[in-house]
Amino acid sequence: MSDYHISTDCLRAGYRPENGGPRNMPIIQSTTFRYDSSEEMGMLFDLEKSGYFYTRLQNPTNDMVAAKICRLEGGSAAMLLSSGQAANFYAVFNIAGCGDHIISSAAIYGGTYNLFAVTMKRMGIQVTFVDPDCSEEELAAAFLPNTKAVFGEVIANPALTVLDIEKFAEAAHAHGVPLILDNTFPTPVNCRPFEWGCDIVTHSTTKYMDGHALTVGGAIVDSGKFDWNAYAEKFPGLTTPDESYHGVTYTQRFGLEGAYITKATVQLMRDLGSIPSPHNCFLLNVGLETLPLRMKKHCENAQAVAEFLDKHEQTAWVQYAGLPGDKYYDRAKKYMPQGTCGVIVFGVRGGRAAAEKFMGRLKLISIATHVADAQSCILHPASSTHRQMNDEELAAAGVSADLVRLSVGIEDVRDIITDLMQALEGI
Ligand SMILES: *Cc1c(COP(=O)(O)O)cnc(C)c1O
Repeated sequence: MSDYHISTDCLRAGYRPENGGPRNMPIIQSTTFRYDSSEEMGMLFDLEKSGYFYTRLQNPTNDMVAAKICRLEGGSAAMLLSSGQAANFYAVFNIAGCGDHIISSAAIYGGTYNLFAVTMKRMGIQVTFVDPDCSEEELAAAFLPNTKAVFGEVIANPALTVLDIEKFAEAAHAHGVPLILDNTFPTPVNCRPFEWGCDIVTHSTTKYMDGHALTVGGAIVDSGKFDWNAYAEKFPGLTTPDESYHGVTYTQRFGLEGAYITKATVQLMRDLGSIPSPHNCFLLNVGLETLPLRMKKHCENAQAVAEFLDKHEQTAWVQYAGLPGDKYYDRAKKYMPQGTCGVIVFGVRGGRAAAEKFMGRLKLISIATHVADAQSCILHPASSTHRQMNDEELAAAGVSADLVRLSVGIEDVRDIITDLMQALEGI
């Protein structure tokens, strides 16, 4: 493996053209693959030979992009999925089933919260949500004998809390379970969770990795460092024969580096089928090529916008880890010295009505249920995604009526600030 820097890997990892080969990664838009003999295909099914046979399990284009993301995170194996939701579901369900328990930070994306609290609960998996800023004692007290994983988001969407990665990793490891972190907002350009003790990383590639609002997708990357064999009784799915897959024992056949992702591919992807299309993976790859340039610009622009909003008299409060007064400023500097992300949350002075008026006056910034896009976009949850809730219910959900989530894009920052200024001043 090469030792290139991350911006080189964003362009070059995962695919190397042969002599005379296409400069661009080919899109292998084929559901199936042809063989000369059924013996050969049999060896593929028995996992005795590696190769492709059906795109629901694996596709060369998807695998090249997965290999690139694996390299960016510094992992041992990775897979792509059709959405971030699928990635977080597979990441947990690969090691926790009916009768098991997981611990999750309470400050996570709403879709993931529902997945854990409603859908996975119905599948018999219990979840304990902990305050991301809880003490070590509170965190330790959440573990049960059947706990199989700890989950969190490096920067939470939309709460923008920054997780104490080392504290969560130490607690997980002291109880013999892996730490799974959703690294969607920082991306590996700004944070590499494996370097701080995290074991498995997930992504909604829909956000910065794609970056152009083109494709919904997800990724899981394994560090290959968690020792499943040391806690074999906790993880029988990885350490004992899988009768549904020709009796293969994943840790034995694929080692610690490959066991987790192989199981998630040949068992969960086989049965649940959340495979992204090769064409979408190709588009994601185009996004990845410029990820470092875009992240730098998102952070620069967001810093300037946060400072502008912080000083403006029409804003009640601003939350952004790059502001020196922010609760997460020091922690963000430690884990993300080059910057965090382009998302800012703030309150419009005057509450719900004022926030609605402000939104209506914006000319450049688009109103959209999206974040982490090259184009600036904005959402007022109280009048859109959370509009069925009254002010008390909103407060209980941690989303105040005046809260606006702004995803700062990579336009000229002067135009973004001018738009915000005219909208705030017209309230
Ligand atoms: C959007 C998002 C998800 C869900 O991803 P989809 O690609 O929309 O399924 C998960 N985690 C975080 C942090 C997100 O922002």
